Amino acid sequence: MKDVGEISRALMDAERIAIISHEDPDGDAIGSSLGAYFGLMGVKGGLAVLNPDPVPSHLLFLRGSEKIQALIPNQPFDLYLVLDCGDRSRVGNLLANARGRIINIDHHESNRRFGDLNWVEEKASSAGEMVYRLLFQRMGFPLDTEAATSLYTAILTDTGSFRFSNTSPRALRIAGLLLKRSLPPDFIASQLYEDRSLGQLRALGDMLSRMEVEAEGKVAWGLITQEMLTRGRITLDETEGFVNFPRSLKGVEAAVVFKEIGFREYRVSLRSKGAVDVAKVASAFHGGGHHNASGCSLSGDFSEVKEKVIGEIRRCM
Ligand code: 5GP
Ligand code: MN
Repeated sequence: MKDVGEISRALMDAERIAIISHEDPDGDAIGSSLGAYFGLMGVKGGLAVLNPDPVPSHLLFLRGSEKIQALIPNQPFDLYLVLDCGDRSRVGNLLANARGRIINIDHHESNRRFGDLNWVEEKASSAGEMVYRLLFQRMGFPLDTEAATSLYTAILTDTGSFRFSNTSPRALRIAGLLLKRSLPPDFIASQLYEDRSLGQLRALGDMLSRMEVEAEGKVAWGLITQEMLTRGRITLDETEGFVNFPRSLKGVEAAVVFKEIGFREYRVSLRSKGAVDVAKVASAFHGGGHHNASGCSLSGDFSEVKEKVIGEIRRCM
């Protein structure tokens, strides 16, 4: 926590700030970035919001998402505010030529403290919660509808709609405060969760009809292939959240979705309930994340990749 005072001073002093979050961005990455953007906008001229990947379609309803760019602007920044990111390698090349100070605000237990100033709070529900506490509680910036909607979205998505173990009293209190200023909760929820295309649901059906269960029913896994994406005419980011379905199977302690991203290349989404530490599983393959939600990438034949990941889960049980 000792860095928080210094972080607020650095934010006050900086003239040009780049706000950056992790590749393959989720609701917390985008929501915390936009929350910080709208908070700082009133006091800072030179702001940019950057992400190496496009904003996933279900988050495009957030005002300001169209401002998120993948290219580093030519003008130098004196401060880089990196949000929801445990590892410097997860921002593509956005920090490659960074000369200014790097501020790392995050809640991943695998965080590598890559910033010049680091505020890492594993118990925080989300980076969005931390942005709220820093900019709007501690520093007292005025909270507008845009910031409130973005930060509410960050907390809602990272707590799995207030279902995961990071749903703390504090997260709920802050969500309540945000809700007074944000767009209506039913509108936000329907944009996030009830805006699926027929192709998405069919791909989900495909995955679920072939889902398999191992370790006496404690592990469930599904596979998304390129062929399934083509058939449903959907992109990989439209499979976000699919892993919650194998996770919802009775008796399951760990769930996995393997996503074929290229020839012999797989992105792996891991989720667990309770004791199984999937951050540990992911870190065995140079990935990371949280105790109950993590990710990593592997290459090889699918059967090989699957055996490796399931084997590691069994060892962590
Ligand atoms: P998802 O399955 O939604 O892609 O990721 C779940 C969680 O794990 C998120 O908090 C995400 O930031 C983290 N995560 C996913 N992939 C990686 C990775 O390759 N490295 C690290 N450090 N974290 C990851
Ligand atoms: Mn997060």
